[in-house]
Amino acid sequence: MSSARSAFSRSVMLPASAGDIVHFPLHSSPKVICIIDAEEEFDWSAPFATSNNSVKTIAAQSAAQAIYRRFNLVPTYAVDYPVASQERGYQPLREFAQAGHCEIGAQLHPWVTPPYDEIVGEENSFACNLPPELQFKKIEALTEIIRRISMSLQNCFGQADMEPGRIRRGCSNSSAMK
Ligand SMILES: [Zn+2]
Repeated sequence: MSSARSAFSRSVMLPASAGDIVHFPLHSSPKVICIIDAEEEFDWSAPFATSNNSVKTIAAQSAAQAIYRRFNLVPTYAVDYPVASQERGYQPLREFAQAGHCEIGAQLHPWVTPPYDEIVGEENSFACNLPPELQFKKIEALTEIIRRISMSLQNCFGQADMEPGRIRRGCSNSSAMK
């Protein structure tokens, strides 16, 4: 129990400083915060592979955006390297962003983000299992390519090991996040 608590206290999902905490008034109406993983098509039953980088489904996101517009919902797309590095992936999202209809965050899928200095597989699909220097290089490559395609990067960083169903205890890579 205590080890679970200490692992949680080291989570990089916790805010780095008090200024990062968003305060909602106690009696305000409920808020919807919508963060969408924008990533390559992924077969959860297949092994991890650097070659798995098809992003053709991103174009279909316009159908969902039309629904969001009806409710004036501005989602944040957590973009990963395959999306940010291929026009077919980033162009639809860039158009939404330029219209002010979405924001862009970053999401690290280590197995499809260079440099590929690790053995690709289940263990190393969790960024926290990589050496801090390699985590940093991958984060740097990801954020750099998002900036290069003229997307302003919001203060949102998702990681493979933070996604639903992929949460792992004891991960800490806060040094690479700074
Ligand atoms: Zn993902």
